Amino acid sequence: MSHAPASPGDAAADKSKDGRPSNFIRAIIEEDLRTGKHQGRVATRFPPEPNGYLHIGHAKSICLNFGLAGEYGGTCHLRFDDTNPTTEDMEYVASIQNDIRWLGFDWQDHLYFASDYFDELYASAEHLIKKGKAYVDSLSEEEIRTYRGTVTEPGKPSPYRDRSVEENLDLFRKMRAGDFADGEHVLRAKIDMAAANMKMRDPLLYRIRHAHHYRTGETWCIYPMYDFAHCLSDSIENITHSICTLEFENNRDIYDWVIAECDRENVPHQYEFARLKLNYTVMSKRKFLRLVNEKLVSGWDDPRMPTIAGMRRRGYTAEAIRDLCERVGVAKANSTVDFTKLEFCVRNDLNPKVPRVLAIQNPLKVVIDNYPEDKVEMLDASLYPHDVPLEGSRELPFSREIYIDRDDFREDPPKKFFRLAPGREVRLRHAYIIKCEKVVKDPESGEITALHCTYDAATLGTNPTDRKVKGTIHWVSAKHAVPAEIRLYDRLLAVEHPDQEEGDFLDMLNPDSLEVVQGFVEPAIAGDADGTRYQFERLGYFIRDVGDSTPDKPVYNRIVGLRDSWAKISGETKAKPAAPSKPAPSKVEKATPAPAEPKRDPLADKTPELAAKFTAYRDDHGLSEEDADLLTADPARVRFFEAALATHDNAKAIANWINNELARELKDRPLSQLPFGPTELAELVALIDADTISNKIARDVFAVLAEKGGKPADIVAKRGLTQVSDTAELERILAQIAADHPDEVARYKAGEKKLTGFFVGKMMKATGGKANPKVINRLVAEKLG
Ligand code: ATP
Ligand code: MG
Repeated sequence: MSHAPASPGDAAADKSKDGRPSNFIRAIIEEDLRTGKHQGRVATRFPPEPNGYLHIGHAKSICLNFGLAGEYGGTCHLRFDDTNPTTEDMEYVASIQNDIRWLGFDWQDHLYFASDYFDELYASAEHLIKKGKAYVDSLSEEEIRTYRGTVTEPGKPSPYRDRSVEENLDLFRKMRAGDFADGEHVLRAKIDMAAANMKMRDPLLYRIRHAHHYRTGETWCIYPMYDFAHCLSDSIENITHSICTLEFENNRDIYDWVIAECDRENVPHQYEFARLKLNYTVMSKRKFLRLVNEKLVSGWDDPRMPTIAGMRRRGYTAEAIRDLCERVGVAKANSTVDFTKLEFCVRNDLNPKVPRVLAIQNPLKVVIDNYPEDKVEMLDASLYPHDVPLEGSRELPFSREIYIDRDDFREDPPKKFFRLAPGREVRLRHAYIIKCEKVVKDPESGEITALHCTYDAATLGTNPTDRKVKGTIHWVSAKHAVPAEIRLYDRLLAVEHPDQEEGDFLDMLNPDSLEVVQGFVEPAIAGDADGTRYQFERLGYFIRDVGDSTPDKPVYNRIVGLRDSWAKISGETKAKPAAPSKPAPSKVEKATPAPAEPKRDPLADKTPELAAKFTAYRDDHGLSEEDADLLTADPARVRFFEAALATHDNAKAIANWINNELARELKDRPLSQLPFGPTELAELVALIDADTISNKIARDVFAVLAEKGGKPADIVAKRGLTQVSDTAELERILAQIAADHPDEVARYKAGEKKLTGFFVGKMMKATGGKANPKVINRLVAEKLG
């Protein structure tokens, strides 16, 4: 099966500059450009130490450094900060380059290694010695520490501090020549042993290490310290803005001191921003190395690892990671980002891009007794829901024996269980309504081994008029099903803030971070390439694993579930106030809770007033039980919903926004903390209903609302987001795209209708995601068909 590669999601990633919130570093750069500080140049760098794989924290630094260079027409260097011979390795150099490229960035010909500057750095060290600004100290490391003093007490000078320039030069040259053992001497800057900034109390510049360096081999046995090498490397490369994380704030004084005392012509400046931290995660190469070495994960690219390689294998997209970095922004204060925010970005990116297909995680055989034994029907099943501007379908075989997910059957169903149960009916997605007639059990274990059902031949694609069947479940035809291994991933750590806990983080691992099940997928996707992503309907987003899949037996990694189930679980164990009381429902199959959903009677925990509202919303406004339930979780929501409804009368859409985007945004916060109110939400929905903006753009507008409030119409106008519905304009764009892609046009004309998605995607991209999907779908059919 193939499907449209073009993705309107790309358009969001290259969103125009003015759509982005500004930050203090941009402000500094703009001021420098205005005053001509670096002759109008902007040169940044990303300086990883090749001692491990990159993680999502590095992604933030990469997005920032490469992003700024791109924005201001500058350059961003990739420099390996490889001054520590014992931990560095070529494998890491290769992986780091690969990860940066995958994230979508390019250093062009600016690839550098600090180790290439060893000669120049050495010369600068001699320069300092000759100026009387550096000396060889012969205290032990331990003594140096005690001599340094404390925050409240000044340090005291080393007895070797006043060595003559000649003696220092002689000793330093001997250090280089290999005359001394590790630790016998160090080179120190001569600054001020009483400095308030402890880092300025004669910092170490060079130390002896008789070790093999992965690039310079045995050439050197003295290695420069970070504080000496980093600033000089920046200066050597003509960097203008040297951006690093907050923990280097106190190193800035040394940075400036070294540049000045070495009489460097190019004077770069250091600026610090907050590290990215995620909850339920550690963020350090050293810690990851332990996980890898102790075989607690399958490797650096284990899908549970917060490494870029792990996230890629898990199925996260570069767009989603970049989006997270953009949303987190650049701040001066450290904070922890909720993992659910990353998952939100992933869903947000995948939702409009990936096809919906059927798979079974926990198979239960169903025999449809009144369906002819050898008959197979090929159903034409759409791959995308209506609110996704892509089109395409595949053939879905239906036959007498199928598999459903075990959780979709209950022998003794609770009151509001709308899936299959003895004597009950349910709709099979894209197919018929079936009714459960008989349950077959293993006589010994009592386990249910199969169900016997009948189907209603009149219900393919239409609903019966004499009765209402509420649930829809997923299934696959047993004889066509392709066996698949399905890997269900969860948080790597069981505790939210590992850094704040006592003890070793290895003791905090989540024992359920990986569950492997043997399931089935529908045959249409059997031949897809490794790395293809899908939504398995009602189960979540999945990727065909790159690494362990074989042609006979594909392996699928769960990228992310359809909704945030973790917030609920962790909320329950911590007995937090339950608002929202339930995770937001998936947009796709709202009618039927996904299998993992615990059974629950929506009326059981409601006051009589809220129960009355629930019934009214369901029966008078036609909302699904789930939507009605969520809206009546507390009186504040009821008031919000009703106030919005008073402004714009579209109950279903408003309910959908409150229960999905808004619930995600709020998490545990009360509604009163929102920077906007029900009127604004209603106005946003009204803009969609008037076809002024698409759903996708509405989500962007919503993000702005959630961040700083405002009026939806103003945000749309100010950012030029109005949906393009002007047919003439769209026709012109389509004609251009058609002219650029004659092959695709020919194939489309020859009947390859799934290429609609290709053209729609291109149109979306060309209009920055602003084209009205309904209009383009129609135009493509009319103009190219
Ligand atoms: P780790 O502790 O994981 O080894 P590091 O800071 O030692 O990280 P480097 O290879 O020295 O890793 O980092 C390269 C660049 O990435 C540095 O500029 C550093 O400031 C930045 N960086 C590292 N971790 C983060 C993070 N969590 N958030 C943002 N930037 C980061
Ligand atoms: Mg480091």
